[in-house]
Amino acid sequence: MSSPLSLKVADRIRQIPRSGIRDFFELVQSRGDVISLGVGEPDFSTPWHIREAAIFALEKGETCYTSNLGLPALRRAIATYISGHCGTDYDPAKEIIVTVGVSEALDIAFRALLNPGEEVIYHEPCYVSYNPSIFMAGGVPVAIHTRPEDDFVLRAEDVERAITPRTKVIMLNFPTNPTGAFEPLDELEKIAALAVKHDLIVFTDEIYTELLYDGRKHTSILTFPGMKERTILFHGFSKAYAMTGWRLGYACAPTEIIEAMMKVHQYAMLCAPIMSQRAAIEALENGAAAVEMMRQSYEQRMNVIVTRLNAMGLPTFRPGGAFYVFADIRPTGLTSKEFALRLVNEQSVAVVPGNAFGMSGEGFVRACYATALPQLEIALERMGRFVGGLRPETSERPAGAHAA
Ligand code: PMP
Repeated sequence: MSSPLSLKVADRIRQIPRSGIRDFFELVQSRGDVISLGVGEPDFSTPWHIREAAIFALEKGETCYTSNLGLPALRRAIATYISGHCGTDYDPAKEIIVTVGVSEALDIAFRALLNPGEEVIYHEPCYVSYNPSIFMAGGVPVAIHTRPEDDFVLRAEDVERAITPRTKVIMLNFPTNPTGAFEPLDELEKIAALAVKHDLIVFTDEIYTELLYDGRKHTSILTFPGMKERTILFHGFSKAYAMTGWRLGYACAPTEIIEAMMKVHQYAMLCAPIMSQRAAIEALENGAAAVEMMRQSYEQRMNVIVTRLNAMGLPTFRPGGAFYVFADIRPTGLTSKEFALRLVNEQSVAVVPGNAFGMSGEGFVRACYATALPQLEIALERMGRFVGGLRPETSERPAGAHAA
């Protein structure tokens, strides 16, 4: 950007890059024949009974604003759900705010908490919005690189090393987008102890915690001693209930924090859309069976994609949850971007270059397996052809060559 008008854009905004995922999405949309494993979005439509609840709200003429914090009935449903899902009780009157997706909840939380120069520790590779959201709120993003050979676990000792007198927040996301990493309980406990010891706030983005595999059970960092009073829990409807387009999420936290987030929310957003909120009540009260059906379907696809990527010579970590694999493409000798561009151009399959998720994602690509199995099979066949054509050492290897 160098036109006179672009120079009017605030320095801070000019400094941040566009999301690498969006760039790729636009490329894919410009071509009709591409199978996209790119954007992190369920291939299912929102379950019908949830859609019906929104239609019914519209039929009744519910087209108005709601309370800034969200419909009281939705906040009560969230409190009940979180009590069952995480084992922690929140007061729906004061400790829950309904937002326009987890995206907005994160943004208003960073803006509500960070003074200029205060540091936020987060683990990388990570969801694309963390770094720019921290930066736009005036904070300083401090990335800890997690490693494929360590199953992308966040080690408490690495967190401790990153803590400085300016650290205010530790930001967590398990299961992780883009790696599917699942944090072991003992590390989570040690990180909680560090937060207490250094008096830090913890942000826990638990948007994928319904989508766990191999019998795993969710434990929130909230449940460790001294944590509820220093934690913001972020959750939403996009992933588990296949509701990305409804733009609905929420945060649970102590009253003082919710009050501060509410100030930003009421001036920036006012409230989340009422018909989405009505749908969300139905999702929480009656959506469990649909979520489990989708989870099982993702697990089946995960088994297929992990086995096949390893077999084609791309070492791929077996995810503990979410709906992504993070395939190691270093054996091809290509950079993440070269791999993704050539794959889309030569075989019409879209994946996201790993460096879109931070520098430590270089050498990897993210593939989303929230794609119907027949399509996934075709995409994998094409990927196999692409990889097989590159180099002798990336041709077929025994399945499960890496952590499968
Ligand atoms: N957190 C993570 C880890 C995500 O992967 C995403 C979406 N890809 C979000 C938050 C944003 O979700 P929402 O649709 O609720 O804004």
